[in-house]
Amino acid sequence: MHPERESLDFDIVFVGAGPANLSAAIHLRNLVDRHNRGSSDSLEPEIGIIEKGRYCGAHLLSGAILDLSALSLFMPDFIEKGCPLESPAGKEHVWFLGEKRKLRIPYLPEAFRNEGNRIVSLSRLGAWLAKEAEALGVALFDSTAAVEAVVDNGRVTGVITDDKGFDRERNPLPGSEPGMILNAKVVVIGEGARGSLFGQLDRIFSLQPENRIQLYETGVKEVWDVPPGRITPGEIHHTFGYPLTPDIYGGGWLYALSETRISLGFVTTAEPSRPVFDPHYNLQLFKSHPLVRNIIEGGTMLEYGAKAITSGGYDAMPKLSGPGFLLTGECAGLVNMQRLKGIHLAMHSGVLAAETLFASLLSRDFSARALQAYDTAFESSKAHEEMYGARTYRQGFERGLYAGLVNAGLKLALPRPVHKENENRLVPGGKGYDDWLQRKRKFIPDGALTFSRNDSLYRSATAHEENQPCHLAIRPEDIAEICAGRCTGEFGNPCQHFCPAGVYEIDPDADPVLKLNPSNCLHCKTCDIADPYGIIAWNPPEGGGGPGYTLG
Ligand code: SF4
Repeated sequence: MHPERESLDFDIVFVGAGPANLSAAIHLRNLVDRHNRGSSDSLEPEIGIIEKGRYCGAHLLSGAILDLSALSLFMPDFIEKGCPLESPAGKEHVWFLGEKRKLRIPYLPEAFRNEGNRIVSLSRLGAWLAKEAEALGVALFDSTAAVEAVVDNGRVTGVITDDKGFDRERNPLPGSEPGMILNAKVVVIGEGARGSLFGQLDRIFSLQPENRIQLYETGVKEVWDVPPGRITPGEIHHTFGYPLTPDIYGGGWLYALSETRISLGFVTTAEPSRPVFDPHYNLQLFKSHPLVRNIIEGGTMLEYGAKAITSGGYDAMPKLSGPGFLLTGECAGLVNMQRLKGIHLAMHSGVLAAETLFASLLSRDFSARALQAYDTAFESSKAHEEMYGARTYRQGFERGLYAGLVNAGLKLALPRPVHKENENRLVPGGKGYDDWLQRKRKFIPDGALTFSRNDSLYRSATAHEENQPCHLAIRPEDIAEICAGRCTGEFGNPCQHFCPAGVYEIDPDADPVLKLNPSNCLHCKTCDIADPYGIIAWNPPEGGGGPGYTLG
Protein backbone atom coordinates (compact mmCIF):
# COMPACT_ATOMS: atom_id res chain seq x y z
CA MET A 1 0.00 0.00 0.00
CA HIS A 2 1.34 3.45 -0.91
CA PRO A 3 1.81 5.81 2.04
CA GLU A 4 -0.19 9.04 2.10
CA ARG A 5 1.99 11.67 0.55
CA GLU A 6 1.82 15.39 0.93
CA SER A 7 2.36 17.46 -2.17
CA LEU A 8 3.95 20.79 -3.04
CA ASP A 9 3.37 22.76 -6.22
CA PHE A 10 6.15 24.28 -8.28
CA ASP A 11 6.41 25.71 -11.74
CA ILE A 12 9.82 24.17 -12.34
CA VAL A 13 11.52 21.40 -10.36
CA PHE A 14 15.18 20.66 -11.04
CA VAL A 15 16.35 17.18 -10.05
CA GLY A 16 20.03 17.28 -9.13
CA ALA A 17 22.16 20.27 -8.09
CA GLY A 18 24.98 19.73 -10.55
CA PRO A 19 26.53 22.36 -12.82
CA ALA A 20 23.81 21.97 -15.49
CA ASN A 21 20.80 22.52 -13.26
CA LEU A 22 22.42 25.16 -11.07
CA SER A 23 23.36 27.14 -14.19
CA ALA A 24 19.82 26.71 -15.51
CA ALA A 25 18.21 27.86 -12.26
CA ILE A 26 20.49 30.91 -11.98
CA HIS A 27 19.98 31.90 -15.62
CA LEU A 28 16.20 31.38 -15.43
CA ARG A 29 15.91 33.43 -12.24
CA ASN A 30 17.94 36.24 -13.86
CA LEU A 31 15.82 36.17 -17.03
CA VAL A 32 12.64 36.39 -14.93
CA ASP A 33 13.99 39.22 -12.77
CA ARG A 34 15.10 41.17 -15.84
CA HIS A 35 11.66 40.68 -17.40
CA ASN A 36 9.90 41.79 -14.22
CA ARG A 37 11.92 45.00 -14.04
CA GLY A 38 10.70 46.04 -17.50
CA SER A 39 7.15 44.68 -17.63
CA SER A 40 3.87 45.08 -15.81
CA ASP A 41 3.08 41.43 -16.57
CA SER A 42 5.22 40.10 -13.73
CA LEU A 43 6.25 36.45 -13.60
CA GLU A 44 6.53 34.83 -10.16
CA PRO A 45 7.55 31.22 -10.87
CA GLU A 46 8.15 28.80 -8.01
CA ILE A 47 11.51 27.20 -8.80
CA GLY A 48 12.92 24.36 -6.70
CA ILE A 49 16.05 22.22 -6.86
CA ILE A 50 16.31 18.91 -5.07
CA GLU A 51 19.67 17.30 -4.37
CA LYS A 52 20.26 13.86 -2.84
CA GLY A 53 23.61 14.79 -1.29
CA ARG A 54 23.62 16.03 2.29
CA TYR A 55 24.78 19.40 0.98
CA CYS A 56 25.22 20.82 -2.51
CA GLY A 57 28.52 19.63 -3.89
CA ALA A 58 28.62 16.50 -1.68
CA HIS A 59 28.18 14.20 -4.70
CA LEU A 60 30.07 16.27 -7.27
CA LEU A 61 33.34 14.82 -8.48
CA SER A 62 35.38 15.52 -11.58
CA GLY A 63 38.98 15.96 -12.81
CA ALA A 64 38.56 18.89 -13.61
CA ILE A 65 39.75 21.52 -16.09
CA LEU A 66 36.95 23.97 -16.75
CA ASP A 67 36.44 25.68 -20.09
CA LEU A 68 35.20 29.05 -18.81
CA SER A 69 33.15 29.85 -21.91
CA ALA A 70 29.88 28.50 -20.50
CA LEU A 71 30.18 30.33 -17.16
CA SER A 72 30.41 33.58 -19.13
CA LEU A 73 27.09 32.79 -20.84
CA PHE A 74 25.05 33.18 -17.67
CA MET A 75 27.39 34.94 -15.23
CA PRO A 76 29.81 37.26 -17.03
CA ASP A 77 31.06 38.63 -13.67
CA PHE A 78 31.92 35.21 -12.20
CA ILE A 79 35.44 36.34 -11.26
CA GLU A 80 34.20 39.42 -9.37
CA LYS A 81 31.61 37.28 -7.62
CA GLY A 82 34.35 35.04 -6.23
CA CYS A 83 33.84 31.85 -8.28
CA PRO A 84 36.20 29.24 -6.78
CA LEU A 85 38.74 28.63 -9.55
CA GLU A 86 42.16 27.12 -8.95
CA SER A 87 45.28 27.57 -11.10
CA PRO A 88 45.07 28.55 -14.76
CA ALA A 89 45.80 25.55 -17.00
CA GLY A 90 49.55 25.43 -17.60
CA LYS A 91 52.03 23.14 -19.29
CA GLU A 92 50.41 20.02 -20.71
CA HIS A 93 51.85 16.58 -21.25
CA VAL A 94 50.33 13.44 -22.77
CA TRP A 95 52.16 10.21 -21.98
CA PHE A 96 52.05 6.63 -23.06
CA LEU A 97 52.95 4.51 -20.02
CA GLY A 98 54.59 1.11 -19.77
CA GLU A 99 54.90 -0.50 -16.32
CA LYS A 100 58.03 1.51 -15.48
CA ARG A 101 58.59 3.64 -18.56
CA LYS A 102 56.94 6.62 -20.12
CA LEU A 103 56.90 7.98 -23.63
CA ARG A 104 55.88 11.56 -24.23
CA ILE A 105 53.48 12.04 -27.11
CA PRO A 106 55.11 14.88 -29.01
CA TYR A 107 52.10 16.40 -30.67
CA LEU A 108 49.00 17.73 -28.93
CA PRO A 109 45.94 18.03 -31.17
CA GLU A 110 43.85 21.17 -30.73
CA ALA A 111 41.18 19.35 -28.72
CA PHE A 112 43.70 18.40 -26.02
CA ARG A 113 44.84 21.97 -25.41
CA ASN A 114 43.71 23.97 -22.42
CA GLU A 115 44.98 27.53 -22.84
CA GLY A 116 42.64 29.90 -21.01
CA ASN A 117 40.98 27.16 -18.97
CA ARG A 118 41.10 26.81 -15.18
CA ILE A 119 41.56 23.82 -12.91
CA VAL A 120 38.63 23.53 -10.49
CA SER A 121 37.17 21.40 -7.77
CA LEU A 122 33.68 20.59 -9.06
CA SER A 123 32.44 20.02 -5.53
CA ARG A 124 33.52 23.53 -4.49
CA LEU A 125 32.18 25.04 -7.71
CA GLY A 126 28.80 23.32 -7.21
CA ALA A 127 28.52 24.47 -3.60
CA TRP A 128 29.27 28.03 -4.69
CA LEU A 129 26.76 27.99 -7.58
CA ALA A 130 24.13 26.63 -5.18
CA LYS A 131 24.65 29.63 -2.87
CA GLU A 132 24.32 31.97 -5.88
CA ALA A 133 21.06 30.25 -6.89
CA GLU A 134 19.67 30.48 -3.35
CA ALA A 135 20.56 34.15 -3.13
CA LEU A 136 18.42 34.71 -6.24
CA GLY A 137 15.41 33.06 -4.59
CA VAL A 138 15.64 29.48 -5.86
CA ALA A 139 14.36 27.01 -3.22
CA LEU A 140 17.04 24.41 -2.59
CA PHE A 141 16.31 21.11 -0.84
CA ASP A 142 19.41 19.05 -0.11
CA SER A 143 19.21 15.53 1.42
CA THR A 144 16.25 14.94 -0.91
CA ALA A 145 16.34 12.24 -3.56
CA ALA A 146 13.87 11.93 -6.45
CA VAL A 147 12.90 8.27 -6.51
CA GLU A 148 10.24 8.31 -9.23
CA ALA A 149 8.82 10.57 -11.89
CA VAL A 150 5.05 11.01 -11.73
CA VAL A 151 3.70 10.30 -15.20
CA ASP A 152 0.06 11.12 -15.79
CA ASN A 153 -1.64 10.72 -19.13
CA GLY A 154 1.63 10.48 -21.02
CA ARG A 155 3.15 13.54 -19.35
CA VAL A 156 5.60 14.01 -16.48
CA THR A 157 3.78 16.07 -13.87
CA GLY A 158 6.23 15.90 -10.98
CA VAL A 159 8.49 13.69 -8.92
CA ILE A 160 8.19 11.63 -5.75
CA THR A 161 10.92 12.19 -3.19
CA ASP A 162 12.50 9.62 -0.88
CA ASP A 163 10.76 8.12 2.16
CA LYS A 164 12.64 8.92 5.34
CA GLY A 165 12.86 6.93 8.55
CA PHE A 166 11.82 3.45 7.36
CA ASP A 167 13.70 0.34 8.47
CA ARG A 168 15.19 -2.43 6.33
CA GLU A 169 11.82 -4.17 6.10
CA ARG A 170 10.17 -0.86 5.19
CA ASN A 171 8.45 -0.50 8.57
CA PRO A 172 8.08 3.10 9.74
CA LEU A 173 10.36 4.16 12.59
CA PRO A 174 9.43 6.95 15.02
CA GLY A 175 9.50 10.27 13.15
CA SER A 176 9.33 8.61 9.72
CA GLU A 177 8.06 10.66 6.79
CA PRO A 178 6.83 9.33 3.48
CA GLY A 179 8.32 11.14 0.48
CA MET A 180 6.44 14.05 -1.00
CA ILE A 181 4.98 14.61 -4.43
CA LEU A 182 6.50 17.69 -6.00
CA ASN A 183 4.16 18.78 -8.78
CA ALA A 184 5.70 20.83 -11.56
CA LYS A 185 4.84 22.20 -14.97
CA VAL A 186 8.29 21.04 -16.06
CA VAL A 187 10.78 18.70 -14.39
CA VAL A 188 14.39 19.29 -15.41
CA ILE A 189 16.42 16.14 -14.91
CA GLY A 190 20.14 16.63 -14.36
CA GLU A 191 20.97 13.53 -12.32
CA GLY A 192 24.39 12.97 -13.91
CA ALA A 193 25.49 9.66 -15.42
CA ARG A 194 23.05 6.71 -15.40
CA GLY A 195 20.27 8.51 -13.55
CA SER A 196 17.36 6.55 -12.11
CA LEU A 197 14.65 8.90 -13.37
CA PHE A 198 16.31 8.94 -16.78
CA GLY A 199 16.07 5.11 -16.81
CA GLN A 200 12.37 5.26 -15.93
CA LEU A 201 11.59 7.88 -18.59
CA ASP A 202 13.68 6.11 -21.23
CA ARG A 203 11.53 3.02 -20.73
CA ILE A 204 8.36 5.08 -21.20
CA PHE A 205 9.40 7.60 -23.86
CA SER A 206 12.23 5.72 -25.68
CA LEU A 207 14.73 8.55 -25.24
CA GLN A 208 17.88 6.67 -26.23
CA PRO A 209 18.46 6.46 -30.00
CA GLU A 210 17.69 3.09 -31.53
CA ASN A 211 20.72 0.83 -32.07
CA ARG A 212 22.98 3.11 -30.06
CA ILE A 213 23.50 2.23 -26.43
CA GLN A 214 25.13 4.70 -24.10
CA LEU A 215 28.74 3.96 -23.09
CA TYR A 216 30.25 4.59 -19.66
CA GLU A 217 33.59 4.67 -17.90
CA THR A 218 34.32 4.57 -14.19
CA GLY A 219 36.51 7.36 -12.92
CA VAL A 220 38.19 7.18 -9.51
CA LYS A 221 39.86 10.24 -8.10
CA GLU A 222 42.06 11.33 -5.23
CA VAL A 223 43.08 14.77 -4.04
CA TRP A 224 46.56 15.03 -2.51
CA ASP A 225 48.71 17.53 -0.71
CA VAL A 226 52.29 17.02 -1.91
CA PRO A 227 55.60 18.50 -0.79
CA PRO A 228 56.53 21.81 -2.48
CA GLY A 229 58.81 21.72 -5.49
CA ARG A 230 57.30 18.63 -7.12
CA ILE A 231 54.99 20.31 -9.59
CA THR A 232 54.17 23.69 -11.09
CA PRO A 233 50.68 25.16 -10.47
CA GLY A 234 48.47 24.42 -13.47
CA GLU A 235 50.65 21.54 -14.74
CA ILE A 236 48.59 18.88 -16.56
CA HIS A 237 49.39 15.24 -17.30
CA HIS A 238 47.20 12.80 -19.22
CA THR A 239 48.21 9.18 -19.75
CA PHE A 240 47.32 6.16 -21.88
CA GLY A 241 48.61 2.64 -21.42
CA TYR A 242 49.66 1.12 -18.08
CA PRO A 243 48.02 -0.41 -16.18
CA LEU A 244 45.53 -1.16 -18.98
CA THR A 245 46.12 -3.51 -21.88
CA PRO A 246 45.79 -1.90 -25.33
CA ASP A 247 42.29 -3.28 -25.92
CA ILE A 248 40.80 -1.57 -22.86
CA TYR A 249 39.81 2.08 -23.00
CA GLY A 250 40.93 4.33 -20.19
CA GLY A 251 43.74 6.44 -18.85
CA GLY A 252 45.00 8.62 -16.06
CA TRP A 253 45.23 12.30 -15.21
CA LEU A 254 47.13 14.47 -12.80
CA TYR A 255 46.42 18.19 -12.44
CA ALA A 256 48.18 20.67 -10.17
CA LEU A 257 45.59 22.88 -8.46
CA SER A 258 48.46 24.72 -6.76
CA GLU A 259 52.11 24.06 -5.99
CA THR A 260 51.14 21.60 -3.27
CA ARG A 261 47.57 20.43 -4.08
CA ILE A 262 46.90 17.96 -6.89
CA SER A 263 43.98 16.06 -8.34
CA LEU A 264 44.75 12.67 -9.83
CA GLY A 265 42.63 9.86 -11.07
CA PHE A 266 42.15 6.96 -13.38
CA VAL A 267 39.36 6.13 -15.83
CA THR A 268 38.53 2.53 -16.82
CA THR A 269 35.82 1.57 -19.27
CA ALA A 270 32.77 -0.10 -17.72
CA GLU A 271 31.23 -2.62 -20.08
CA PRO A 272 28.79 -5.40 -19.19
CA SER A 273 30.32 -7.56 -21.95
CA ARG A 274 33.74 -7.40 -20.25
CA PRO A 275 32.89 -6.69 -16.64
CA VAL A 276 36.09 -7.94 -14.95
CA PHE A 277 37.89 -4.73 -14.12
CA ASP A 278 38.87 -2.98 -10.94
CA PRO A 279 38.96 0.80 -11.10
CA HIS A 280 40.28 1.15 -7.52
CA TYR A 281 43.14 -1.29 -8.17
CA ASN A 282 43.95 0.45 -11.47
CA LEU A 283 44.27 3.73 -9.60
CA GLN A 284 46.69 2.15 -7.10
CA LEU A 285 48.83 0.80 -9.98
CA PHE A 286 48.73 4.18 -11.73
CA LYS A 287 50.02 5.88 -8.57
CA SER A 288 52.83 3.32 -8.34
CA HIS A 289 54.16 4.35 -11.77
CA PRO A 290 57.30 6.51 -11.43
CA LEU A 291 55.62 9.41 -13.28
CA VAL A 292 53.02 9.75 -10.50
CA ARG A 293 55.03 8.32 -7.60
CA ASN A 294 57.76 10.94 -8.03
CA ILE A 295 55.20 13.69 -7.60
CA ILE A 296 53.06 12.35 -4.73
CA GLU A 297 55.46 10.29 -2.60
CA GLY A 298 55.67 11.74 0.90
CA GLY A 299 52.38 13.59 0.41
CA THR A 300 48.96 13.07 2.01
CA MET A 301 45.86 11.73 0.34
CA LEU A 302 42.98 13.97 1.40
CA GLU A 303 39.95 12.70 -0.47
CA TYR A 304 38.85 9.69 -2.52
CA GLY A 305 35.80 9.26 -4.73
CA ALA A 306 34.35 7.54 -7.77
CA LYS A 307 31.76 8.22 -10.43
CA ALA A 308 30.51 6.84 -13.71
CA ILE A 309 31.22 8.97 -16.77
CA THR A 310 28.87 9.07 -19.74
CA SER A 311 31.04 8.57 -22.80
CA GLY A 312 28.98 7.48 -25.82
CA GLY A 313 29.25 10.95 -27.36
CA TYR A 314 27.03 12.66 -29.89
CA ASP A 315 25.57 9.54 -31.52
CA ALA A 316 24.46 8.13 -28.16
CA MET A 317 22.76 11.30 -26.96
CA PRO A 318 19.12 10.84 -25.96
CA LYS A 319 16.25 13.13 -26.92
CA LEU A 320 16.64 16.23 -24.80
CA SER A 321 12.99 16.87 -24.03
CA GLY A 322 9.65 15.11 -23.69
CA PRO A 323 6.20 15.84 -22.34
CA GLY A 324 6.76 17.74 -19.10
CA PHE A 325 10.52 17.27 -18.87
CA LEU A 326 13.97 18.33 -20.08
CA LEU A 327 17.30 16.53 -19.70
CA THR A 328 20.46 18.48 -18.93
CA GLY A 329 24.18 17.87 -18.59
CA GLU A 330 25.61 14.38 -18.35
CA CYS A 331 22.10 12.97 -18.07
CA ALA A 332 21.69 14.19 -21.67
CA GLY A 333 25.00 12.54 -22.67
CA LEU A 334 26.88 15.83 -22.79
CA VAL A 335 30.48 14.80 -22.24
CA ASN A 336 33.22 15.38 -24.81
CA MET A 337 35.61 12.48 -24.19
CA GLN A 338 38.14 13.91 -26.63
CA ARG A 339 38.56 16.99 -24.45
CA LEU A 340 37.82 15.01 -21.24
CA LYS A 341 35.31 17.69 -20.40
CA GLY A 342 31.63 17.95 -19.68
CA ILE A 343 31.14 20.69 -17.09
CA HIS A 344 31.05 23.52 -19.64
CA LEU A 345 28.67 21.49 -21.85
CA ALA A 346 26.47 20.86 -18.81
CA MET A 347 26.38 24.58 -18.09
CA HIS A 348 25.65 25.32 -21.74
CA SER A 349 22.71 22.92 -21.70
CA GLY A 350 21.51 24.61 -18.50
CA VAL A 351 21.52 27.99 -20.24
CA LEU A 352 19.54 26.62 -23.20
CA ALA A 353 17.11 24.89 -20.86
CA ALA A 354 16.59 28.12 -18.90
CA GLU A 355 15.84 30.05 -22.09
CA THR A 356 13.28 27.43 -23.14
CA LEU A 357 11.66 27.48 -19.70
CA PHE A 358 11.55 31.28 -19.71
CA ALA A 359 9.79 31.27 -23.10
CA SER A 360 7.28 28.75 -21.72
CA LEU A 361 6.66 30.87 -18.63
CA LEU A 362 6.05 33.92 -20.83
CA SER A 363 3.69 32.14 -23.20
CA ARG A 364 2.17 29.90 -20.48
CA ASP A 365 2.78 27.07 -22.92
CA PHE A 366 4.45 24.04 -21.33
CA SER A 367 3.42 21.57 -24.02
CA ALA A 368 5.87 18.98 -25.34
CA ARG A 369 5.99 21.02 -28.52
CA ALA A 370 7.00 24.18 -26.67
CA LEU A 371 9.67 22.27 -24.75
CA GLN A 372 11.08 20.93 -28.01
CA ALA A 373 12.51 24.41 -28.54
CA TYR A 374 15.28 23.16 -26.23
CA ASP A 375 16.29 20.40 -28.71
CA THR A 376 16.14 22.93 -31.54
CA ALA A 377 18.25 25.48 -29.64
CA PHE A 378 20.81 22.79 -28.88
CA GLU A 379 21.13 21.90 -32.56
CA SER A 380 22.32 25.38 -33.43
CA SER A 381 24.50 25.81 -30.34
CA LYS A 382 28.27 25.73 -29.80
CA ALA A 383 27.71 22.73 -27.53
CA HIS A 384 26.23 20.82 -30.47
CA GLU A 385 29.11 21.86 -32.70
CA GLU A 386 31.59 20.55 -30.13
CA MET A 387 29.79 17.26 -29.50
CA TYR A 388 29.36 16.67 -33.23
CA GLY A 389 33.02 17.44 -33.90
CA ALA A 390 34.11 14.81 -31.36
CA ARG A 391 31.55 12.19 -32.35
CA THR A 392 33.98 9.56 -33.63
CA TYR A 393 36.60 9.94 -30.87
CA ARG A 394 35.42 7.40 -28.28
CA GLN A 395 34.16 4.92 -30.88
CA GLY A 396 37.65 4.98 -32.43
CA PHE A 397 38.95 3.19 -29.32
CA GLU A 398 36.53 0.29 -29.77
CA ARG A 399 39.14 -1.16 -32.12
CA GLY A 400 41.84 -0.78 -29.46
CA LEU A 401 44.19 1.86 -28.11
CA TYR A 402 46.37 2.21 -31.21
CA ALA A 403 43.47 2.63 -33.61
CA GLY A 404 41.93 5.10 -31.17
CA LEU A 405 45.07 7.19 -30.88
CA VAL A 406 45.48 7.36 -34.62
CA ASN A 407 41.82 8.31 -34.97
CA ALA A 408 42.32 10.99 -32.33
CA GLY A 409 45.17 12.48 -34.35
CA LEU A 410 47.87 11.61 -31.80
CA LYS A 411 51.11 10.70 -33.52
CA LEU A 412 52.45 7.82 -31.50
CA ALA A 413 55.62 6.18 -32.79
CA LEU A 414 55.05 2.72 -31.34
CA PRO A 415 54.89 -0.70 -32.91
CA ARG A 416 51.21 -1.46 -33.28
CA PRO A 417 50.39 -5.03 -32.40
CA VAL A 418 47.25 -6.40 -33.99
CA HIS A 419 44.68 -7.24 -31.32
CA LYS A 420 41.83 -9.53 -32.01
CA GLU A 421 38.62 -8.32 -30.50
CA ASN A 422 38.33 -9.31 -26.83
CA GLU A 423 41.62 -11.21 -26.96
CA ASN A 424 42.50 -10.06 -23.47
CA ARG A 425 38.95 -10.08 -22.10
CA LEU A 426 39.29 -11.22 -18.52
CA VAL A 427 37.12 -14.27 -17.84
CA PRO A 428 37.85 -17.38 -15.79
CA GLY A 429 39.82 -19.80 -17.92
CA GLY A 430 40.65 -17.04 -20.43
CA LYS A 431 44.06 -15.72 -21.31
CA GLY A 432 45.32 -13.42 -18.58
CA TYR A 433 42.56 -13.88 -15.98
CA ASP A 434 44.49 -16.03 -13.48
CA ASP A 435 47.52 -13.80 -13.88
CA TRP A 436 45.49 -10.70 -13.25
CA LEU A 437 43.78 -12.20 -10.21
CA GLN A 438 47.03 -13.43 -8.72
CA ARG A 439 48.76 -10.10 -9.24
CA LYS A 440 45.81 -8.33 -7.71
CA ARG A 441 45.76 -10.66 -4.68
CA LYS A 442 49.48 -10.18 -4.18
CA PHE A 443 49.19 -6.41 -4.30
CA ILE A 444 49.57 -5.10 -0.74
CA PRO A 445 48.81 -1.39 -0.37
CA ASP A 446 51.45 0.40 1.66
CA GLY A 447 48.99 2.80 3.32
CA ALA A 448 51.06 5.79 2.21
CA LEU A 449 51.03 5.86 -1.59
CA THR A 450 48.52 3.07 -2.19
CA PHE A 451 45.47 2.18 -0.12
CA SER A 452 43.01 -0.62 0.49
CA ARG A 453 39.44 0.01 -0.56
CA ASN A 454 38.41 0.51 3.07
CA ASP A 455 41.15 3.05 3.72
CA SER A 456 40.25 4.89 0.51
CA LEU A 457 36.59 4.86 1.41
CA TYR A 458 37.32 6.41 4.78
CA ARG A 459 38.54 9.49 2.87
CA SER A 460 35.27 9.86 0.95
CA ALA A 461 33.22 10.76 4.06
CA THR A 462 30.62 8.25 2.88
CA ALA A 463 27.76 7.62 5.29
CA HIS A 464 24.23 6.23 5.07
CA GLU A 465 21.46 5.61 7.56
CA GLU A 466 22.34 1.96 8.32
CA ASN A 467 18.85 0.70 9.08
CA GLN A 468 17.22 1.80 5.82
CA PRO A 469 15.90 -0.45 3.04
CA CYS A 470 18.77 -1.70 0.85
CA HIS A 471 19.06 0.54 -2.20
CA LEU A 472 20.65 -2.22 -4.30
CA ALA A 473 17.86 -4.40 -5.58
CA ILE A 474 18.89 -7.98 -6.41
CA ARG A 475 16.27 -10.73 -6.27
CA PRO A 476 17.15 -13.63 -3.93
CA GLU A 477 16.49 -16.10 -6.76
CA ASP A 478 19.04 -14.26 -8.93
CA ILE A 479 21.60 -14.49 -6.12
CA ALA A 480 20.94 -18.23 -5.83
CA GLU A 481 20.94 -18.98 -9.56
CA ILE A 482 23.24 -16.40 -11.11
CA CYS A 483 25.64 -15.17 -8.38
CA ALA A 484 26.16 -18.66 -6.97
CA GLY A 485 26.07 -20.38 -10.36
CA ARG A 486 26.43 -18.94 -13.85
CA CYS A 487 28.31 -15.78 -12.94
CA THR A 488 31.00 -17.62 -10.99
CA GLY A 489 31.92 -19.72 -14.02
CA GLU A 490 31.37 -17.11 -16.72
CA PHE A 491 32.82 -13.96 -15.13
CA GLY A 492 34.18 -14.90 -11.67
CA ASN A 493 31.63 -12.64 -9.90
CA PRO A 494 33.02 -9.34 -11.19
CA CYS A 495 30.99 -7.21 -8.73
CA GLN A 496 33.62 -8.02 -6.09
CA HIS A 497 36.18 -6.32 -8.35
CA PHE A 498 34.42 -3.46 -10.12
CA CYS A 499 32.81 -1.75 -7.15
CA PRO A 500 35.26 0.95 -6.02
CA ALA A 501 33.76 0.87 -2.53
CA GLY A 502 33.83 -2.87 -1.83
CA VAL A 503 30.04 -3.06 -1.48
CA TYR A 504 29.88 -6.57 -2.97
CA GLU A 505 31.53 -9.47 -1.15
CA ILE A 506 31.40 -13.03 -2.45
CA ASP A 507 31.89 -15.99 -0.14
CA PRO A 508 31.32 -19.24 -2.06
CA ASP A 509 30.86 -21.14 1.22
CA ALA A 510 28.18 -18.83 2.60
CA ASP A 511 24.47 -18.88 1.94
CA PRO A 512 23.69 -16.57 0.27
CA VAL A 513 27.05 -16.24 -1.47
CA LEU A 514 26.65 -12.50 -1.88
CA LYS A 515 27.02 -10.15 1.06
CA LEU A 516 26.22 -6.47 0.52
CA ASN A 517 27.64 -3.47 2.37
CA PRO A 518 25.28 -0.83 0.95
CA SER A 519 26.27 1.82 3.46
CA ASN A 520 29.71 2.00 1.76
CA CYS A 521 28.16 3.02 -1.56
CA LEU A 522 29.77 5.97 -3.35
CA HIS A 523 26.78 6.34 -5.72
CA CYS A 524 29.10 5.81 -8.70
CA LYS A 525 26.54 3.54 -10.52
CA THR A 526 29.24 1.21 -11.85
CA CYS A 527 27.33 -1.86 -10.66
CA ASP A 528 24.17 -0.74 -12.46
CA ILE A 529 26.22 -0.43 -15.67
CA ALA A 530 28.76 -3.27 -15.57
CA ASP A 531 26.66 -6.11 -14.12
CA PRO A 532 26.71 -8.57 -17.07
CA TYR A 533 23.29 -10.05 -16.31
CA GLY A 534 21.46 -6.83 -15.50
CA ILE A 535 20.27 -8.21 -12.16
CA ILE A 536 21.47 -5.29 -10.02
CA ALA A 537 19.23 -2.24 -9.90
CA TRP A 538 20.69 0.82 -8.20
CA ASN A 539 17.95 2.91 -6.57
CA PRO A 540 18.48 6.21 -4.77
CA PRO A 541 18.89 5.58 -1.04
CA GLU A 542 17.48 7.92 1.59
CA GLY A 543 18.52 11.49 0.76
CA GLY A 544 21.55 12.74 2.65
CA GLY A 545 23.41 9.42 2.31
CA GLY A 546 26.46 8.80 0.15
CA PRO A 547 29.80 10.54 -0.09
CA GLY A 548 30.61 13.94 1.35
CA TYR A 549 33.06 15.42 -1.14
CA THR A 550 34.48 18.84 -0.41
CA LEU A 551 37.44 18.81 -2.82
CA GLY A 552 36.07 16.49 -5.55
FE1 SF4 B 1 29.34 2.23 -7.14
FE2 SF4 B 1 27.74 1.92 -5.02
FE3 SF4 B 1 27.47 0.28 -7.12
FE4 SF4 B 1 29.64 0.10 -5.55
S1 SF4 B 1 27.49 -0.32 -4.96
S2 SF4 B 1 29.59 0.07 -7.80
S3 SF4 B 1 29.95 2.26 -5.01
S4 SF4 B 1 27.09 2.48 -7.07
